[in-house]
Amino acid sequence: MPEPAAGVPATIALIAHDGRKVDMVAFATYNRERLGHFHLVATSTTGELLQDKVGLEVTRVLSGPKGGDTQIAAMVAEGKVRAVIFLVDPLTPHPHEPDIQAILRVCNVHNIPLATNVASADLLMTSSLLDRPS
Ligand code: PGA
Repeated sequence: MPEPAAGVPATIALIAHDGRKVDMVAFATYNRERLGHFHLVATSTTGELLQDKVGLEVTRVLSGPKGGDTQIAAMVAEGKVRAVIFLVDPLTPHPHEPDIQAILRVCNVHNIPLATNVASADLLMTSSLLDRPS
């Protein structure tokens, strides 16, 4: 499925592991205005924080461990996501590791920009790639 028609904001997906949620809130607060121009989709707990702590409007899917990463991976595969910001915690084991690998893989299959740490997410925010017409 193609991205939205011209004039409809592109979608950015945001996910943060528990050990990176503080970083996600700081990142989103700093980039609040820019992020606010996009349709944002997030896993449940990450999205709740973005709404409550940052004041962004977010479409929430399931929590990551309950299948939310898989839902976002499906959106990427369908061409509905312009970029993914997935702040991963590489020092903690995750029960949903296969789902994490799936979203990383599907971004690489479809050449979708994917930032897995704050430094890369900051760079992504400065990119005009995000602004190209749909
Ligand atoms: P959460 O999911 O935002 O619901 O915590 C993130 C994850 O662990 O994949």
